Amino acid sequence: MRECPECGLFQAVPIMRPGQVAECTRCGALLRRRRRDALGTTLAFSVTGLLLFAVSTTTPLLGLRLAGQQRNTTLTSLPGAFESQGIWQLAIVVLATTLLAPLVKLGLTAGVLIGLRIETAPSTLAAMERWRKRLTPWAMIEVFLLGTFVAYTRLAALAEVQVGIALYALGGLMLAIVATDAWLDEHALWEAIGRRRRTPAPMGGGELIGCDSCGRVSRAPPGARCPRCNAPLRIRKPDSLARSWALLLAAAALYIPANLYPVMTVIRFGRGQPSTILGGVQELIEYRMWPLALLVFGASVLVPVLKLLSLAVLLISTQRRAAGRLRDRTRLYRIVDVIGRWSMIDVFMLSILVALVRMGLLASVIPGLGGVCFAGVVILTMLAAFSFDPRLMWDAAGQTGCDAAEAEA
Ligand SMILES: [Zn+2]
Ligand SMILES: [Zn+2]
Repeated sequence: MRECPECGLFQAVPIMRPGQVAECTRCGALLRRRRRDALGTTLAFSVTGLLLFAVSTTTPLLGLRLAGQQRNTTLTSLPGAFESQGIWQLAIVVLATTLLAPLVKLGLTAGVLIGLRIETAPSTLAAMERWRKRLTPWAMIEVFLLGTFVAYTRLAALAEVQVGIALYALGGLMLAIVATDAWLDEHALWEAIGRRRRTPAPMGGGELIGCDSCGRVSRAPPGARCPRCNAPLRIRKPDSLARSWALLLAAAALYIPANLYPVMTVIRFGRGQPSTILGGVQELIEYRMWPLALLVFGASVLVPVLKLLSLAVLLISTQRRAAGRLRDRTRLYRIVDVIGRWSMIDVFMLSILVALVRMGLLASVIPGLGGVCFAGVVILTMLAAFSFDPRLMWDAAGQTGCDAAEAEA
């Protein structure tokens, strides 16, 4: 028995063969993808990822040669470049999303899978797996690579840019992370952790609750602990609509200074020219870099606006108890949930430019307040999407998952 995480329908998932995929019968959400030797393969990918992470943090990333001056940068030097310009907020964002989150996530993935092979307390394994899942959306190596690509193309038009070993290692690291995520069968992992645990007495009474963290369905009073992973059992995310609205409104408010203040000031031959997000897109158009202009416009302008609007539509329709287009709205939520992190391209591009273009009056890039506000918008909208519980849309339309489950039984 499983509860669909997106529409809340309780349904029986049959025993699956490797390669098979289970989707929710009501909203089409992915419930489980079974892989052959999922845990062994995931372990191999995550260890490969850790090795590539070590290479990409210890080798040069990009070099820049301009008028006889040479600058080099590494992945680990990027947060420091922001910090030295007084923009510590972006230093934290870059440190967390390109170094800490990917490292800890890969480490926890490998740790849980190795822990399953040796004697490790199931409660430790459960805690590690819960943190792995929580960190996953904040590891942004693939977005960072795209930001690096944009920075590279902009710089290559002006100066000689050298590509370091770290960039190739990062490409490999991205593939390793994608493969780790694709192969990890959480269902199989939790079953393996659950087998370690003594089966507790059935709790009896209460209603059917699907655990947010491990997916086990128990009959228990809300607030009780999940017998498999020890996470608190909640019927729905707490205060979902209020939290989501608060974060969404904060993001919308920050979106205004994010567009008014310059993201960066480019100093060339002693003269500074501030540029905003839209100004950056305009510049790319002037250089006739059409595909790049389109990419940056999509990631920095279109995606944030569409995300703010979509979340508002989802929240309002839920509060008005709309019953139409539930499947489409659930699909919209799925897209909003996945697409938001790609807006960080501009922030990562900025981190490369700031670290690399530091040649005093000849050529320098100074980060501006607009970049801080913009990163705030992206993070707040991501949090707003996580706080929103799509199951509430189905509840509001009067379609409860429990009734359906009882009817099926
Ligand atoms: Zn569903
Ligand atoms: Zn659980």
